[in-house]
Amino acid sequence: MRASQLYAPTLREMPAEAELVSHKLMLRAGLVRKIAGGIYTYLPLAWRTIKKIEQIIREEMDAKGGQEIMMPIMQPAELWLESGRWNVYGAELMRLKDRHDRPFALGPTHEEIVTSLVRDEVRSYKQLPLMLYQIQNKYRDEIRPRFGLMRSREFIMKDLYSFDKDVDGLNASYEKMFDAYTRIFTRCGLKFRPVEADNGAIGGGHSHEFTVLAPSGESSIAYCEACEYAASDEKAELKVITVDAEEMKPLEKVHTPGTHTIELVKDYLNVPIEKTIKAVAFQDDDGRLILAFVRGDHEVNEIKILNAVDGALHLHMADEAAIVDAGGSAGFMSPIGIKDGTVIVVDASVMEMYNAVAGANETDHHFINVNPRRDFDREKLIVADIRMVREGDPCPHCGAPLKMTRGIEVGQVFTLGDKYSKALNASFLDENGREKFFEMGCYGIGVGRTMQAAIEQSNDENGIIWSRALAPFEVVVVPVNVKNAEQLSAAEKIYEELRAEHVDVLIDDRSERAGVKFTDCDLIGYPLRITIGPKALKDGTVEIKIRRTGELVTVVREKYLSTVLELLKGL
Ligand code: ATP
Ligand code: MG
Repeated sequence: MRASQLYAPTLREMPAEAELVSHKLMLRAGLVRKIAGGIYTYLPLAWRTIKKIEQIIREEMDAKGGQEIMMPIMQPAELWLESGRWNVYGAELMRLKDRHDRPFALGPTHEEIVTSLVRDEVRSYKQLPLMLYQIQNKYRDEIRPRFGLMRSREFIMKDLYSFDKDVDGLNASYEKMFDAYTRIFTRCGLKFRPVEADNGAIGGGHSHEFTVLAPSGESSIAYCEACEYAASDEKAELKVITVDAEEMKPLEKVHTPGTHTIELVKDYLNVPIEKTIKAVAFQDDDGRLILAFVRGDHEVNEIKILNAVDGALHLHMADEAAIVDAGGSAGFMSPIGIKDGTVIVVDASVMEMYNAVAGANETDHHFINVNPRRDFDREKLIVADIRMVREGDPCPHCGAPLKMTRGIEVGQVFTLGDKYSKALNASFLDENGREKFFEMGCYGIGVGRTMQAAIEQSNDENGIIWSRALAPFEVVVVPVNVKNAEQLSAAEKIYEELRAEHVDVLIDDRSERAGVKFTDCDLIGYPLRITIGPKALKDGTVEIKIRRTGELVTVVREKYLSTVLELLKGL
């Protein structure tokens, strides 16, 4: 490829609208252009990288027995009604109607489609296991599309679905995909970690997120340095915190004017924050009031609350009126005296407290000497782990203090079990001729997000630093002055020789100043740059610049090819 013909409109200025460095660099290096919020065109450089990522994914999916198919993006609403997700998926689902007024959705994921395909075709256990995948645009009307390709509304995803005859088979498929994902992200040159994750709206059994480590990432991860444990902050299991036993003093209501926050009440009563109980009031989609209680120094974890409360799908901040109806007072809540019918969820560590402070369900009043085991009506509570992990919490596996870090979720693997096969009545006949539902798993990778995560993890003040595997071109050959026929022909010769060796090479034959070309090379981030200037020609040498280290390697003309091939291996 010739840079003179390449459509790569680089920008000198930092685009103001972008927050993340990777987003800025994608715009500056001429990789993508925005069409509307969360909707992008991929220009040639980005598309070359995308195709390389897709190729790595294909090879690893195929190696595990995956078969590539292509399912429709447009999905009939009937299937989503059958699975029960038409109403559950909410505003993220892009819905549309055809000319006959029939409802459709643009696929955010394909469990319904793939399950209906297999239900109609696969009749016997002998046809299992089956792994089907596709690489395709997905649509999610994200509430806040942002960070370029990281959270867009139209994005490329690889999604694979596994069908097995039993749970052992499913677990084997899950292991295969886990291994494939590890290989894919390693081949992409990323620093990543698989972390235990919550299942979210897709639902089902267990799950891991593959998270590229980056301080700017949207995912927060708790991990242990003493053992292998790593989990998303939403998922991280927490041990119950016990405290030294105290004599239980009599419950007492006290006047605490204006103390509607934990900070205010702890100062007013002069008690340590660990001795206070904090309330957070939610309502679910049906308006049901859900009161959650954690220790004052802890934060509630909404995902854990949703998992603990049967039938709750989303949480919204509660209306003042609903709180008053239940016998409470916003800012002064406790489980003591709340009307029946309210869902009360108490963090397990709260139940261990002695002589604590909690709201008295009356404005400007608190209870002191609250002893949950004595004062809360256990019959009316859900007690569960509902708090958010924080740095230093003990590892649930080995007890060592957990560390926190941030990352970008690039892929996720789930076991679904028979959730979708049951809902869509997809069954087969087992060895004994018995009808059984398929055991399913689903496995996604965000292709664009993976590309951007690679940039986010690997760049410097001059631009992107690609790994060889993902670079749009592995090598760029730069004749310093294309008007000099000798330089140009020497560069052309090297370009041809590298092509003959199947190196993915670009020649920068533009009649720009050398400085402009070098700046662009650094910005776009080709792993190796070969410069052909007057000095090289005079000395019979070739200068190779390694983008990652900035190192310059000068070799004699006869040796450059073996040097380039050798250097590329390490990039
Ligand atoms: P998130 O929690 O970031 O919203 P998700 O868990 O909903 O993502 P999955 O359903 O697991 O996403 O989708 C599989 C993969 O698709 C994700 O791991 C991610 O890499 C990618 N992905 C999901 N949503 C988006 C998006 N809005 N833009 C770009 N990539 C996305
Ligand atoms: Mg996910």
